[in-house]
Amino acid sequence: MHQDCIFCKIAAKQLPTQFIYEDEFMVVFPDINPATPVHVLVIPKKHIANLLELQPEDKDLVAHIMMTIPKIVSQLGLSENGFRLVVNTKENGGQTVNHLHWHILGGRFMTWPPG
Ligand code: AMP
Ligand code: ZN
Repeated sequence: MHQDCIFCKIAAKQLPTQFIYEDEFMVVFPDINPATPVHVLVIPKKHIANLLELQPEDKDLVAHIMMTIPKIVSQLGLSENGFRLVVNTKENGGQTVNHLHWHILGGRFMTWPPG
């Protein structure tokens, strides 16, 4: 738990966030500023600053998160029409919260490439 990390606080239930999904390793909650009709964030409970900070011992954690995302997507009703999974990383990626997170975006068609 990093004291100044807002996502650590959310994962530790120190902020009143409604979880869409929770297990021992991860939580899923709505993005406070949704970019699409459906926009949730998937985070590990463990503080990892970004994708580049992953360590070999995080292998099972990442596998678990990736294997759980299809279940979340199904729960959100996005399986049929599809969705986008995004990991913004550092400045050029547009990362604003330094706790690894996956955006699940859906509910409308999205253009490519991003702006
Ligand atoms: P990123 O820009 O990829 O780092 O994504 C951070 C996301 O976290 C943004 O889409 C924010 O809207 C979202 N966010 C920031 N604070 C909160 C919060 N307290 N609860 C939910 N989402 C948040
Ligand atoms: Zn954190």
